[in-house]
Amino acid sequence: MKKHNFYAGPSILPDYTIENTADAVRDFAGTGLSVMEISHRSKEFVAVMEEAQALFKELLNIPDGYSVLFLGGGASTQFAMIPFNLLNKKAAYLNTGAWSKKAIKEAKLFGEVDIVASSEDKNFSYIPKGYAIPEDADYFHITTNNTIYGTEIREDIDSPVPLVADMSSDIFSRPVDVSKYAIIYGGAQKNLAPAGVTFVIIRNDILGKVDRKIPTMLNYQTHIDKGSMFNTPPVLPVFAALQTLKWLKNKGGVEEMNKINVKKAGMLYDEIDRNSMFKGTVAKEDRSIMNVCFVMNDGYEEKEKAFLDFATERGMIGIKGHRSVGGFRASTYNALPVESVEALIQAMQDFETYNK
Ligand SMILES: *Cc1c(COP(=O)(O)O)cnc(C)c1O
Repeated sequence: MKKHNFYAGPSILPDYTIENTADAVRDFAGTGLSVMEISHRSKEFVAVMEEAQALFKELLNIPDGYSVLFLGGGASTQFAMIPFNLLNKKAAYLNTGAWSKKAIKEAKLFGEVDIVASSEDKNFSYIPKGYAIPEDADYFHITTNNTIYGTEIREDIDSPVPLVADMSSDIFSRPVDVSKYAIIYGGAQKNLAPAGVTFVIIRNDILGKVDRKIPTMLNYQTHIDKGSMFNTPPVLPVFAALQTLKWLKNKGGVEEMNKINVKKAGMLYDEIDRNSMFKGTVAKEDRSIMNVCFVMNDGYEEKEKAFLDFATERGMIGIKGHRSVGGFRASTYNALPVESVEALIQAMQDFETYNK
């Protein structure tokens, strides 16, 4: 039976990425070697790194003056690297979920943290609005897509101080005005590549403003100066990321992807709103197009396990919600085909028919 992969991360990748990566594991670029056993300084791999960086810039329309880095350590290492490199006295953070909280915890190691607004009062079920960003902050940090709760900031906000965004789970889902950001970063394992590579888009002139000493590997300047090849980069995930970027370009880029994503998530939200057995968990205007969260409607709470089993029998994988929200979460990343969304909607409709 065909599996419908709704995992939140690591998560579904295009067949194109998986097939080309599998081929390169056996024979990379006609070298007779695996991509796993060739020097990262070989001309074949240097070409992969350069093409991946160039395609990042092309697909996101990244202006001059920015670098694209592929690092190790996951988005979680960035939570510390950002304040290490940028926080002199005070940083501002928007608290929209578990990942924001982890970023805040690290920033507090380096200076004062001003939490300008938080949605923790309602279990992060909305995006705070109407807050003021302090003009004396060294930067303002946001999490654009809250993977666990299913809320998303879908426009590029104006900030009077350098804007830093964790886009782990919505990078390449929509066009982004990169010029509004000082740093955009994320773990690649949600919408781009297998786990093991972290992307960082950084405006070069943002650095050099803190007094503290920074260890070489944790200093962005090191990686900018060496084109992300200071030490051995995560070779295989970078190769796979390049395949996803090529696939994305072929599909018409982020504008086309945005249209498809809005359509896929919209179909699912329409069914959640229509179906008497289910309800959404977050404010409608803040709904994520990448992680669609829902629970059993009032009076049907005891049917949760039954629906999970029902959907699993029909090939749905990974729809169990995060333990802090409960219910269900269907992640609708770029690579998820519309047929999988249709299959989930059909399961919800059939479940309603059989159980009411
Ligand atoms: C998954 C996720 C992270 C954590 O990423 P790691 O690469 O596992 O450290 C951080 N932020 C967001 C928004 C995420 O979805």
